[in-house]
Amino acid sequence: MICLGIESTAHTFGCGIVTDKKEVLANVRDVYTTTKGGIIPAQAAEHHVECFDRVIKEALTKAKLSMKDIDLISFSQAPGIGHTLRIGGLVARSLAVLHKKPLVGVNHCIAHLEIGRMLTPARDPLLLYVSGANTQIIAYDGGKYRVFGETLDGGLGNFLDSFSRELGLGFPGGPKVEALAKGGKQYIELPYVVKGMDASFAGILTNLKQKLESGKYTHEDMCYSLQETVFSMMVEATERAMAHCGKKELLLGGGVACNKRLQEMCRIMCEERGAVSYALPNEFNVDNGAMIAWLGIIMHKAGITTPIEKARIDPYERTDDVVVTWR
Ligand code: AMP
Ligand code: MG
Repeated sequence: MICLGIESTAHTFGCGIVTDKKEVLANVRDVYTTTKGGIIPAQAAEHHVECFDRVIKEALTKAKLSMKDIDLISFSQAPGIGHTLRIGGLVARSLAVLHKKPLVGVNHCIAHLEIGRMLTPARDPLLLYVSGANTQIIAYDGGKYRVFGETLDGGLGNFLDSFSRELGLGFPGGPKVEALAKGGKQYIELPYVVKGMDASFAGILTNLKQKLESGKYTHEDMCYSLQETVFSMMVEATERAMAHCGKKELLLGGGVACNKRLQEMCRIMCEERGAVSYALPNEFNVDNGAMIAWLGIIMHKAGITTPIEKARIDPYERTDDVVVTWR
């Protein structure tokens, strides 16, 4: 079985083509970026409208396939920015109707976890999902992917992007903060906000803005210190969740999971408790169509098809709203 998966929850329009033999035949994406400021939903949607045809054609060319070879279409149905989800949903529904293919709508957060189970030896990992908008600690328990910890305000990626914006750097800010952090020499104390297995970033951002205005600290030291602080917070909450759930495998997902320092801290934490930490190649950490295609395949094999009239997007669906019948 070959599935074409469409991703459009936020800045990325992606098209992945994956087989039920776990082969990724193509994983093409085009990302809406800005030099100043954050994502403007209507502009990101416009970006997707402009690039979808090219991205899908490029994926088919890379896979050396045409639409008639595709057995199944899947798409990110939830959660995300309504404006951009709608474009991917419309494209997926149109392809399904036009080419008479079955359709499966999937939850984007769960796709991050399932692609990790496909690509690594991890069988029952706890997922530290750190992306732009989402920050969740997710694990399978009792028929659902449950959220054991999450941000109480914005996502970790958005926090990094907001601070990078304060420094006059554009979106995405995470890689810029990571590069500056490498030049950090001195740790500056920052608020450390973990509540149970939840975390909060808004107060740290305010504190950082005040420190920036004071002009007393180098950008390098600030980036280094903020990475050490917020990553420690996430690793602490993750370790607590692993202990609570009795999970021996950790998987990193989401754009912030590309960060080498976060990967290192997770690896050390896992080694110390006799667990294993898995990081994916970057193309599968960031939003991508391959993970949507793979989740489409395993859901469809479990008997799930989304009728066209039920293929409405759901920007607010939570990870634990989905009943998992494929495990
Ligand atoms: P996603 O929403 O999963 O596509 O992830 C996008 C987020 O990942 C943005 O907030 C980026 O700033 C962040 N990001 C990407 N690369 C890195 C990195 N190397 N370090 C930290 N954050 C990153
Ligand atoms: Mg994501």
